[in-house]
Amino acid sequence: MAKSAKTKSKGKSRAKADALNFTYDLEGQKAAVWKAGNSKEVSVRKLPISKGVTGVSMRLKPGGIRELHWHAIAAEWGFFITGKGRVTVVNPQGQWDTQEYGPGDIFFVPQGYAHYIENIGTDECHFLLAFNNGEFNEFSTFSITEWIAQTPREVLVKNFGLPADVFDKFPEKEVYMALGAPPGKKTLSQGGKLDTPRLSHKFRLRAQEGRVYSGGTVKMATIDNFPASNVMAGALMTLKPGALREMHWHPNANEWGYVLKGNVRITLFAADAGSSTQKVKAGGVFYIPMGCGHYLENVGKEEVEMLLVFDNGVYEEISISEWIADTPRDVAATVFGIPEKTLSEFPESEVFISSGKR
Ligand code: MN
Ligand code: MN
Repeated sequence: MAKSAKTKSKGKSRAKADALNFTYDLEGQKAAVWKAGNSKEVSVRKLPISKGVTGVSMRLKPGGIRELHWHAIAAEWGFFITGKGRVTVVNPQGQWDTQEYGPGDIFFVPQGYAHYIENIGTDECHFLLAFNNGEFNEFSTFSITEWIAQTPREVLVKNFGLPADVFDKFPEKEVYMALGAPPGKKTLSQGGKLDTPRLSHKFRLRAQEGRVYSGGTVKMATIDNFPASNVMAGALMTLKPGALREMHWHPNANEWGYVLKGNVRITLFAADAGSSTQKVKAGGVFYIPMGCGHYLENVGKEEVEMLLVFDNGVYEEISISEWIADTPRDVAATVFGIPEKTLSEFPESEVFISSGKR
């Protein structure tokens, strides 16, 4: 319901504006830096609306390793932007899944599973991580080095059946990122390989055929084609200049987006809380709460490319064009107060991406 602006104090409208802020310049932030690479994070601490997803932009130098670790409160969904990496995931059955990654490939790590990421190329490796919990903190993950550092020597002796001095040279605190041997000198993990390849944590998103519209393209990774990723889904979307990703919402998921290329203008419709329109350029992120209406427009001169992540493995959406097309004309005519004839000119099915031209 619309409210009169006059009845609100200035303080209140500012609080409302903050509550409706749904964008953040992730790459514009200062990184946390290690010898082997760096990391930038956006969670509810930086973007309060982002309750369902935390995002991280991470770069590893050649030979760099994001150390052996796990996450207690979130699953991890990763997208390789540049470089060549290797991700190893260990499941509770003790099976390894070690896969190599290039630009456009994604990986999924179930909540609590052991994993690590290596740069195996000769250039910097840049990847994006999304976690299905806005309270997640990438800088307080469970790291193997930190656990060993916090464990009394006599326990380590009993645990591994080794002399105490073996642990003299172990790190005294968390390593987080380590710089290793030059690329090409590494060996694959030992032990049992994953015996259910269908549940591999690797999926080649950019290599998919996808769907083509007059205004752009979309490639999806959902539980249907990437079954390991049971609690998160993702998409790679392009919009031509002037194109519109149509008015829609997601009944079952929050949406987190990262702009890879171009300039996009996004509008969030939050019912009584109002609407908010914000621009996001390459390196920026946005967050659409579950069930909130939204649409995205390419307002720049170059193509927009975006990575979209959902905190549900099942992809669901309702598009306004399809809804109107499926509504009996007499019902729609009464609701909108227009002649039925006008409704016959509306699209007969979902638009999804409009070229922006009539
Ligand atoms: Mn991780
Ligand atoms: Mn959406």
